[in-house]
Amino acid sequence: MPTASMAAVVHYALEKYAVELREVPRPGDLVDDDVLLSTRAVGVCGSEIHQYHNTQSWPVNLPVILGHEVSGLYPKRRHSFAASAPIAGPASTTCVRSGAASGTA
Ligand SMILES: [Zn+2]
Repeated sequence: MPTASMAAVVHYALEKYAVELREVPRPGDLVDDDVLLSTRAVGVCGSEIHQYHNTQSWPVNLPVILGHEVSGLYPKRRHSFAASAPIAGPASTTCVRSGAASGTA
């Protein structure tokens, strides 16, 4: 039986190094187009380095869980994906537009 919480890296304040590992609630029931991955790896984006140093140039709604560049397995049949299909989430358009993903922002 899955536990009610999971570990996550959380950016919790607009201060330098205000990032820590916390237990957070697992997502509840999925609705609409929600997807729940069984995470296998998470990258560190340049935008997250900026948040770690509190040098980001965009608004941040705190607290926020970091690790938006992720790969894993899709554990439930939903839409057109087969059960346990491998999935990778690329850098968001915001990362690419700001240059954060390439480290130039
Ligand atoms: Zn990114």
